[in-house]
Amino acid sequence: VTGSPVDPQSVKGFLSSEEGAALTDLARACAPLGPVVEIGSYVGRSTLYLAAGAREAGGVVIAVDHHRGSEEHQPGEAWHDPELVDPETGRVNTLPAFLETLERAGARDVVQPVVARSPDAARAFAGEAGLVFIDGGHALRTALADWRAWGPKVAPAGVLAIHDVFPDARDGGRPPHEIWLRAKASGLFDPVGGAGSLMWLRRVG
Ligand code: MG
Repeated sequence: VTGSPVDPQSVKGFLSSEEGAALTDLARACAPLGPVVEIGSYVGRSTLYLAAGAREAGGVVIAVDHHRGSEEHQPGEAWHDPELVDPETGRVNTLPAFLETLERAGARDVVQPVVARSPDAARAFAGEAGLVFIDGGHALRTALADWRAWGPKVAPAGVLAIHDVFPDARDGGRPPHEIWLRAKASGLFDPVGGAGSLMWLRRVG
């Protein structure tokens, strides 16, 4: 990524370099319309891709995550990582690793971390976002809450991007695809692109 001393692919995460390059392009194009909002930062791989594009456009990234890990990151679940458990509390806490990623990459000036649940962060966000990137939990209620809270916050001509959109349920969790369908059917968004399992839509009105 241009200007970053850290290769985002060296940061833990689930986003391919192709998807990351698309996020950088989207952030660069959309940042002039309003802040770039990321829902679900984990330890910052996708955040660095977004930050690179936002920086080039003179914009900012608001990185929303409660940092307690999604359903699938909890102990005993498929994507649990013992390195991200706080030994004091025994709970998943991705915030220290996330802040370390930003520090190493020199991205603290562009990225504004918001440690909150996504619907709570949306209530505190009064403006319009140039780009909303939803990469939160894969439980249906979580994905629906992210769409309901943030879909209406996308500025006209801005973009809503969703990660892990798998039309075939056997390839991954179905809820991200479910909210992509809802965005498409809402009349507010036109599907305009995709890379890997990243799909994006442009706000039409
Ligand atoms: Mg994801």
